[in-house]
Amino acid sequence: MKSRRRIYPIFLSHAGCPFRCVYCDQKKIAFQSPSGVPSKDVLDHCRKELSALKRAHTPGKGPMEVAFYGGTFTALPEQLLQQILELAKPLVKEGVLSGIRFSTRPDSINSRICDLLEKYPVQTVELGVQSFDDEVLANSHRGHGSLAVYEAVDHIRSRGWAVGIQLMLGLPGDGPERFLRSVREAALLHADLVRLYPVVVLEGTTLAQWYRNGIYKPLGLEEAIHWCVPAFDHLVQRGNPPVRMGLQADASLEKPGTILAGPYHPAFGYLVRVAWWRQRVDDSLADGIPCSSREAILTVRVPKRLLSEVVGPNRMNIHHWVRTWSLAQVQVAGVDSWEGFNFELGWSPL
Ligand code: SF4
Repeated sequence: MKSRRRIYPIFLSHAGCPFRCVYCDQKKIAFQSPSGVPSKDVLDHCRKELSALKRAHTPGKGPMEVAFYGGTFTALPEQLLQQILELAKPLVKEGVLSGIRFSTRPDSINSRICDLLEKYPVQTVELGVQSFDDEVLANSHRGHGSLAVYEAVDHIRSRGWAVGIQLMLGLPGDGPERFLRSVREAALLHADLVRLYPVVVLEGTTLAQWYRNGIYKPLGLEEAIHWCVPAFDHLVQRGNPPVRMGLQADASLEKPGTILAGPYHPAFGYLVRVAWWRQRVDDSLADGIPCSSREAILTVRVPKRLLSEVVGPNRMNIHHWVRTWSLAQVQVAGVDSWEGFNFELGWSPL
């Protein structure tokens, strides 16, 4: 498994975005610098954040990667973009930062902007792809099709930067198969990191109007988990599990009235992994269990660090396996030395 970089996020809400996407309100998701704020405010915000990072830097802990999130970084006015990058660059030389990453729209990456970025220590570009399905992208008024994604990935790769792909599930017109196709496509493109976000209906967005008018119906929590299990499985099989599933829990997001509907859960990713383990063990038991299982204890051995997601909240997976397979007893044992997502089933007398 790839090691995770330590990231210091700086949120530039909607800065550079050509318009507000139907589902998006970065001010509710993270820190705000409201859309359309003067460049000076965005620059001041970056300056303040980078100074705070420099002050907090502990040399023994190693450098962090600064991440400019929450807007369309490469569509910022060119002068502002350069000013921000000029602020970050010396911190890389000083060993405070390991490099720069940012999120952007696929249609905002081109050779010209890459030429500009190449003068700076960029490491990772995260693309807000959302879907590889042109109909879903059109229904969601994204303003670009899937071709823009392939072109953007080519540009990024040609400069040697890592590519991140962010996908959403449950956009208008999306379905479990379409979503899974998008995930497969991200894997085929060898995305260095993948994030999966279920669509939630935020107050004040176009999607909220569509929801109120009955034009849009969000996924339920169980449904979203159900869509994500094969997606997670596919990415694990490809050796690149998603680095995030579900929106980051945040007090402003959880304020009453912010989320109108949709599959938000502060531990969404955990719930997907719990369901994934449940299904993996089910599949294995379906291949055959000893006839004397009623008088035996089933032990599921897994990497120790994953114990809690195998057991599930309130031991739900254990109860499920006992009930579904009429077992006498199930226990889950953690193995210290195991990496990855190995597991093994063993039987012992009661
Ligand atoms: S989804 Fe991305 S491009 Fe669209 S408004 Fe939000 S931050 Fe901007």
